[in-house]
Amino acid sequence: MDFDLTEEQKMLKDSAKKLMDREIRPYLAQFPAGQQMSFDDIRAILKKLIPLGYLGNTIPEEEGGAGLDPLTYHLIMEELDPDIFGLTMITGGAAKSISVMGSEEQKKKYMPPLLNAETIGCAGITEPNIGSFTGGIQTRAVADGDEFVINGSKMWITNGAFADVCVLLASVDPSMGAKGLGRFIVEKKTSPWEARPIMTMGDDGRIPAVGQLTFEDCRIPKENAMGIPGQGLKEQLVEFQMARCMVATGSLIFARRAIEEAVKYAKERTQFGRPIGQFQLIQDKIADMQALYDASRLLTHRALVEVSKGKRCAKETSMAKFFATEACVKVTSMAIQIHGAYGLSTEYPVERLFRGARMMTIPDGTTEIQKLIVAREILGMQAFV
Ligand SMILES: Cc1cc2nc3c(=O)[nH]c(=O)nc-3n(C[C@H](O)[C@H](O)[C@H](O)COP(=O)(O)OP(=O)(O)OC[C@H]3O[C@@H](n4cnc5c(N)ncnc54)[C@H](O)[C@@H]3O)c2cc1C
Repeated sequence: MDFDLTEEQKMLKDSAKKLMDREIRPYLAQFPAGQQMSFDDIRAILKKLIPLGYLGNTIPEEEGGAGLDPLTYHLIMEELDPDIFGLTMITGGAAKSISVMGSEEQKKKYMPPLLNAETIGCAGITEPNIGSFTGGIQTRAVADGDEFVINGSKMWITNGAFADVCVLLASVDPSMGAKGLGRFIVEKKTSPWEARPIMTMGDDGRIPAVGQLTFEDCRIPKENAMGIPGQGLKEQLVEFQMARCMVATGSLIFARRAIEEAVKYAKERTQFGRPIGQFQLIQDKIADMQALYDASRLLTHRALVEVSKGKRCAKETSMAKFFATEACVKVTSMAIQIHGAYGLSTEYPVERLFRGARMMTIPDGTTEIQKLIVAREILGMQAFV
């Protein structure tokens, strides 16, 4: 087993770090917390990320993607500024969904604008009354002549407040339950929906993390149905494997930053005439934080290697997701403890890192759901139907 990065991976990571330091962070710093950025400003960030493959991710180069393998994609995502993680992951993810399941016409029409950051994507699965039980989706897509008419609401949608294109999971036949779901590409320009931002604890007000979408007699052309009718949930579950690795990757960003801040503070802060880093109980936390981070990263790397084999790897991807996201809550919380009261202050970065970390145990399947998947794969027994 070789843990060394290839020369190409090292070069990409280095370029990603430089891009964040030289362009992304100074650009973000222009916008004060609490003031929502315009959609053009948000698009401008995505445009800066294109050359490194952040949007093109694992999409084949012949389709306009970056053609990265899943692990290399994760390695550059690890370098992203945490404030733009969801924005980037989901925009690239919407293009990837279309690349995997879209028709040739859909790929030609919707992928180039997503990959060039002319449009911003989102994935509409969760609803106000349907969270973990994805098979119970209530949003309806009813065939009417050459169109589908969409009615329903999607909740907690990353990029939802400003997305132009939604890859939507809806029921075409409620009598078939989970087997009656299909996926659709909905474009706001031609098939408008209503969107509202929802403020959550990880937000700093500049880029609303999530939003609610409401579809009222929203008409889309029939050719916007994606994938195989009735197989929407199955297709979604395959995509969740990579998505779960990506949420784990996001958690690693928060955890690493928190460790860096805690180490710096432990060396600088003195009490009882000594740097607090000399106290054994502080050292205990530093050791735990680093071990949690390394274990999370190893589980995530293993899951990504399994994903790249194109095999079913629910156990590995769910384990990486729940372990890394729960670990990052613990790591960011310990970073606050090391900072004492200063850690709770909005003037120090660890307070914000903790709020961001706390968001990660819920999307793409909660910790509880991931554990049920892991145990199901081990026991061969299903806790949910
Ligand atoms: C930051 C963020 C971004 C998100 N982005 C998106 C997005 O882009 N697109 C999208 O469609 N959705 C998105 N979501 C929604 C997310 O996927 C759901 O919130 C998640 O699936 C859980 O659904 P819920 O919140 O309705 O909780 P519920 O399903 O109502 O669960 C409530 C609690 O009950 C537990 N629970 C539920 N069922 C079981 C069970 N069988 N056994 C044990 N415990 C159980 C859960 O673990 C949880 O603790 C996002 C959420 C967040 C926080």
